[in-house]
Amino acid sequence: MDRTGGYVRGPGDTVERGCDHCAWHAVEGSYPALIKRYQDHLRDEHPATWLRR
Ligand SMILES: [Zn+2]
Repeated sequence: MDRTGGYVRGPGDTVERGCDHCAWHAVEGSYPALIKRYQDHLRDEHPATWLRR
């Protein structure tokens, strides 16, 4: 398993990661898409965590 800072490369060309703060989990086709999606999730669901970044 290839791990890069919490991001996990899934089977095929997908990358996945779970949220550190809830059960949210995302699968995307690229790291940039996944990072954007996770940041959108943090901003929407964990604004206090987002603001500390
Ligand atoms: Zn979350």
